[in-house]
Amino acid sequence: MPDIVLTTLNAKYIHAAFGLRYLMANLGDLQARACIAEFDINQRPVDIAEQLLARNPRVIGFGIYIWNVAPATEVIATLKRVRPDIAIVLGGPEVSYETSEQKIVELADCVITGEGDLKFAEVCAGLLANEGDARLRANSKFPKIIPAELPDFSRLALPYDLYTDDDIAHRIIYVEASRGCPFTCEFCLSSLDVPVRQVPLPALLDQLQRLLDRGVKQFKFVDRTFNLNVNVSKAILEFFLARYQPGHFFHFEMVPDRLPETLRESISAFPPGALQLEVGVQTFNEEVGGLIKRRQNYDRLEENFRFLRGKTGVHIHADLIIGLPGETVESFAAGFDRLVALGPQEIQVGILKRLRGTPIARHDVEWQMVYNPHPPYEILQNKLIDFATMQKLRRFARYWDMVGNSGNFIASTPLIWRDGSPFHSFMRWSEWLHAKTRRTDSIALMRLMELMFEFLTIETRQDRRHVAETLWSDYRRGGRHDKPGFMKDYLPVEAIKSESKSRTDLPKRQARHVV
Ligand code: SF4
Repeated sequence: MPDIVLTTLNAKYIHAAFGLRYLMANLGDLQARACIAEFDINQRPVDIAEQLLARNPRVIGFGIYIWNVAPATEVIATLKRVRPDIAIVLGGPEVSYETSEQKIVELADCVITGEGDLKFAEVCAGLLANEGDARLRANSKFPKIIPAELPDFSRLALPYDLYTDDDIAHRIIYVEASRGCPFTCEFCLSSLDVPVRQVPLPALLDQLQRLLDRGVKQFKFVDRTFNLNVNVSKAILEFFLARYQPGHFFHFEMVPDRLPETLRESISAFPPGALQLEVGVQTFNEEVGGLIKRRQNYDRLEENFRFLRGKTGVHIHADLIIGLPGETVESFAAGFDRLVALGPQEIQVGILKRLRGTPIARHDVEWQMVYNPHPPYEILQNKLIDFATMQKLRRFARYWDMVGNSGNFIASTPLIWRDGSPFHSFMRWSEWLHAKTRRTDSIALMRLMELMFEFLTIETRQDRRHVAETLWSDYRRGGRHDKPGFMKDYLPVEAIKSESKSRTDLPKRQARHVV
């Protein structure tokens, strides 16, 4: 039986917990006395507690994040009632700030704030120093809140050997080349993470090679600004390019206004669909950008988008945020339309969250920011956008994800706006769809297509045959062959017979965007 169990509740099974593997890799001699036990938020807290107790540990280390803090609180409350002698040690971004206000912190024995990769081993060594009740030792040896010093990467063991063969076969493999961000966007936790630190490149490339040798095909880099250190970014891109095989897929986050020629060359050498760039735009309103300390060069940003869409096969996932201080519906709409014109394959319309510790809170009074007190702490209303309008925008975001981002309606989505404003036209569709369905989830694809056909042909009076053919071309792109009855009468016989397939070696959603 292990003395230490490292655990967390992932958002989905497919997300392997990167943080736990870092903690495990840096446990030193204690590694032999530890195990990792991962769960996901769809499991019942009492069942998770049962499985943790079955291992009979003396210490349980929990990774706490915005997506799991509510169910993790329930798990820990159960553990503390059944086995109060087990020491509970928390870590993770959700418990690194505002600790005095949190129920989960109250229940735990220790909380390590900041990057706990090395500190966790130190705390466990103290808790397990002798036989007996580790919880009592926690109370006598450590303050409840234990700040971790920023670890130096040269002292950190890299965790990649801890990905099991099962992880490699079925889950997303996370990697990182750096931590921290030099920018200061006030809504973002990474703005507090200075200075930026790089993983020593030779050691990282060595680990990436081992993962490739073990059959990893899809890598997700968690670096907040992959394109910050151009030499490192280029070296990593060239490394993957030299080893590229069909089915390889690499995801990076980048700031949009920084893409020097040297990076452009490497990026454009990748085959279509092999690279995904997550590009945070967040707002096109310069005044809002100034208020939240996010300054970007919009001319360069647009230039970079045009390059990426025109000269490369990169899949762009661009982010915009609704609800920032100073942003009106109209200025958000203008930014959305501007982004649509730049043609990213996906636009994530995010609702502003007040993450614990972030400086966005300084605007609360002036901009009358009202947030949901429960995770994920999304904005409910502010001075410029009332609650009812925010709800409409929330539905817009949800439906945009189902229609604009899913890859199921690549050719059909632009029919919603034809020559008008994408934002206002999509909002009309969004409100119409909500009035018809009264829901924003669990709408089957066929039903959604049928509703779209009705909206486009009756509400916007478009030609039935043209709409049917466009929807049908989208439907077949997903490799489907059954014939939607509601539009059979409008499709030529030969169109129904012909087939088209999306690439099957890429993640499903991205594959539909590769024509
Ligand atoms: S939003 Fe992006 S650029 Fe801004 S602080 Fe966060 S990680 Fe850095």
